[in-house]
Parts: sequence; structure tokens; C-alpha cells
Amino acid sequence: MARLIDGKALAERMTHETATRVARLFSDRGVTPGIAVILVGNDPASRIYVDRKLREAEKAGIRSFEHRLPPDTDQATLLGLIAECNADDAVHGILVQLPLPPHIDPARVLDAIDPRKDVDGFHPVNVGRLSTGTGGLIPCTPLGCMLLLETVIDDFRGLKAVVIGKSNIVGKPVALLLLERECTVTVTHILTRGLPDIARTADILVAAAGRPGLVQPDWIKPGAVVIDVGINRIHDADRGARIVGDVVAEGVDHAAAITPVPGGVGPMTIACLLSNTVRAAECHGA
Ligand code: NAD
Repeated sequence: MARLIDGKALAERMTHETATRVARLFSDRGVTPGIAVILVGNDPASRIYVDRKLREAEKAGIRSFEHRLPPDTDQATLLGLIAECNADDAVHGILVQLPLPPHIDPARVLDAIDPRKDVDGFHPVNVGRLSTGTGGLIPCTPLGCMLLLETVIDDFRGLKAVVIGKSNIVGKPVALLLLERECTVTVTHILTRGLPDIARTADILVAAAGRPGLVQPDWIKPGAVVIDVGINRIHDADRGARIVGDVVAEGVDHAAAITPVPGGVGPMTIACLLSNTVRAAECHGA
């Protein structure tokens, strides 16, 4: 029977530790970590994510500064707000919820965030630091994947890792983090040929394609550890609307361990965002 890696429980422990760091920062330096959360438009999923992040920040004792802007906000106004947040000493982390409306260039917006406040880890400076293994703020979902893997793997060196998906926010950074731990990493994507056979070589399989049920049980090597990053909303006649991952959840008993969806990577993403915010505050003025 594959062990279920409980992301919800780990995220709760991590948020508790983050709250302790928040209290220490206040008692040592009189600083309360603050995060500016910027949402442009009314995308329902984005609103849910932002509300969740604000709720969890409050639980950890992090101050939040909410900026909900109308969908027709122009790029210059958004860049102006980011410049204000960059200059504000009470703001240690800046999060711009993606996706942005089509008339705004996300690269310009992410470039405008002070890399020291880039708690999502998407600024080119932090991407460069990640790729050279020289610190910086690490993107939240990939960091969460690594912390989940660490609960079941002691020694990553020489393990074969296969990452399905090559996005800038999940696939590529997760691959870099695995490489940093001296795994032998294969990154795959939609045009990869022979994906099932490549997946079968993996000691660590990270599925981040956003395709429900893409990874079949017979793609998983016996004893592999599987991280299912996918969050897919589906609707079927017998079970109604629900969230599923990229991995078929049944018939995976031969894996050593697997993250459930929901309750795996998702909660870790927010826990890592809070931890990054406190880290940014700890480094501020240090
Ligand atoms: P994306 O659409 O930006 O990238 C998907 C990647 O998967 C691409 O590189 C694409 O080439 C690859 N891909 C798509 N179909 C494939 C296929 N059939 N075979 C092989 N590769 C394929 O998506 P993303 O933003 O990286 O997100 C991926 C998934 O992870 C989504 O389901 C998303 O909702 C989820 N996600 C979860 C969290 C979390 O907190 N758990 C955070 C971010 C994203």
C-alpha cells in the first residue's frame, strides 16, 4: 500500500512554525512581517486563492495589505502600485495573483517587483539564483514539493527524477531543485515522445501537466515516490464536480508514497508563501 504524504498536516505544522518566527521577529526587532496581495480583475478561481492566502496569513500573524483592482486597470497603474509597495517598509512580500488580464504583460509586472520582496520567486534575479544554486526566494509550489519529498526520502543523491511539465512556475523550478539535490533529472512536456516509458524510469515522479488522469498506474515504477501537483476541476455523472490530480488515484499501491489531491501539494504552496514572507522580513535590513 502506497503511503499517503499528508500535505495538509505538514502545511499546518509549517504555518505553526512560521507563526513562531513572526512572534520572534516582533520580540527581537519590533517587526511584523507584511505581505501585499494584488489582484487585478474578478477571476473567480483567483479570488478564492487570494482569500485563502489572506486567511492563512492572518493565522500566522502576518499583516496583509489587500489591493483589489478592477479588470480594466492599466499596466502603468499596476506598476505604480508595485513601486509604492517596493518603497513601503511595512511590506516585506509582494504577491501579484496570476493570471493577469490580457492587456497587462506579466513579465513587465514581475520584473518590477523588488527581488527581495518577490515571495513568489518569479523575478529573473530569483530565477537566476535558483538556477545557480545561490539562494534567493524559491517559488512556493516547487518548494512545497521538495518539503513533501523530504518527509519520505533521506538521500536524494543519484535518484532518477522525472518531471512532467516545464512551466516557469512549477516544472522548471522543481527540476532545478531536484538537480540541486543531485538527482538525475528528466524534464518532459506535451511534445515529449514516449512519456510513459520515461516515467517508468523514475524513482521520483512529479506530475505537473494540468491533465486529469494523465499518469496511469502502469507509468509508475514499483517503489517510486509520486508528487501530484495537478489541480483539475472535473465533473462526472456519478460523483459530480470534484478536484482531481494528474495521476489516476486508484491502482497505485505499488508506489512507495504519493501525495493526495486535494490535501497534498496545494496546502504546502500557501504555507511556503507565508514562510517566504517571513524570510523576506528576517532578511530586511539585515
Ligand atoms: P502550465 O499549463 O503552465 O504548464 C503545463 C505543462 O505541462 C506544460 O509544460 C506542458 O507542455 C505540459 N503538458 C501538458 N499536457 C501534457 C501532456 N499530455 N503530457 C506531457 N506534458 C504535458 O501549467 P502549470 O501552471 O505548470 O500547472 C500545472 C498543474 O499544476 C495545473 O493543474 C495547475 O492547476 C497545478 N498547480 C498546482 C499548484 C498547487 O498549489 N498545487 C500550483 C500551481 C499549479
